[in-house]
Amino acid sequence: MSTDRIIFSRPFRAARELPNVEAVLSSDHSHGDGPFTASATAKLREITDAPHALLTTSCTSALEMAGLLLELGPDDEVIVPSFAFTSTATAMALRGATVVFADIDLESGNIDPESVAAAITERTKAVVIIHYGGVGADMQRLRELADTHGLALIEDNAHGLGGRWRGRPLGTIGTVGALSFHDTKNVHCGEGGAILLTDEILMARAEIIREKGTDRARFLRGSVDKYSWQDIGSSYLPSELNAAVLDAQLSEFGTIQANRHRVWDSYAAALPDWAARNEVRLMTVPGDREHTAHLYYLRVPSEQRRDDLISHLSQLGIVAPFHYIPLDSSPAGLKLGRTPTPCVRSAEFSKTIVRLPLWPGLTEAQIARVLEGVTSFTV
Ligand SMILES: *Cc1c(COP(=O)(O)O)cnc(C)c1O
Repeated sequence: MSTDRIIFSRPFRAARELPNVEAVLSSDHSHGDGPFTASATAKLREITDAPHALLTTSCTSALEMAGLLLELGPDDEVIVPSFAFTSTATAMALRGATVVFADIDLESGNIDPESVAAAITERTKAVVIIHYGGVGADMQRLRELADTHGLALIEDNAHGLGGRWRGRPLGTIGTVGALSFHDTKNVHCGEGGAILLTDEILMARAEIIREKGTDRARFLRGSVDKYSWQDIGSSYLPSELNAAVLDAQLSEFGTIQANRHRVWDSYAAALPDWAARNEVRLMTVPGDREHTAHLYYLRVPSEQRRDDLISHLSQLGIVAPFHYIPLDSSPAGLKLGRTPTPCVRSAEFSKTIVRLPLWPGLTEAQIARVLEGVTSFTV
């Protein structure tokens, strides 16, 4: 086949990226917390209705900040989904906490609240949730568990900027929300992230933790006349160069999302008959959730046929990967974690999932080629 390859993901290009970066460089002032940081943060707060938001260097660093804010330590346990990106777990393990793996729900790929309930002990301090694919997890049941047992909820919302659960913006329902602006995410600045908070006391501490343990943020606002070492912390603030790109991207958030939904909706409209004939499960979104079109996946009945579908698409020049090797059975998961009940659904999900190309610039012809590629395969 000599047709062009259809890659899995291509970062969006926003019109203001280069002018913004040029403005930063010619200002001779490219370290963090300048005007583009302020502007991008304001846009994020508008999208998420978050009372407080701080840009960070990554979603991983936002999750590390969550671990610091919650004062996790070696006596604590944090419940984490087995089907997850490594940062979701390692940011907790970095504080010395024991990661306890919970299974997922096969319908959504999200953490299963009943598996969480079964994993709670006296030492449990927090639960980390991923809104997988930008589809909100079962926040009602998770909130009930958190309230009953006095647990913090950490939302790893790397996929879900702009998504909603029963009208509430993802990333603002729990104690702490974390966003990613890695260039594989809907909105990017190369590497970047943000932490969302509702609690004012946590916010005051987060500002300090993010700025090497200093009160520089208060100093910049003019509320103290010099800044000094206040607490432990690290360097979690991104440079203005990253913020300049992020601000340009967020200015076009509506366009990015409309185009991602265009692709997602085309897949969702075209595949049901083929899926029913082949016992393939398609991604679903419950009626009370607004998703973010971060990804579109299929689940093929067996690992062998899943691998065959990936090779079939690859021969047609279509890149369709799978992801997340379950964390509970990974080398670090075995060493640093505990798995009270085998995470069989996470293993099953990981072996059967295929993700289709999804990015805003995909043309109608490319979408048609992906659909033709998928539906020409018989499971
Ligand atoms: C991408 C991703 C992360 C990590 O994001 P970075 O910004 O690269 O640190 C964490 N969790 C999930 C679910 C992700 O998809």
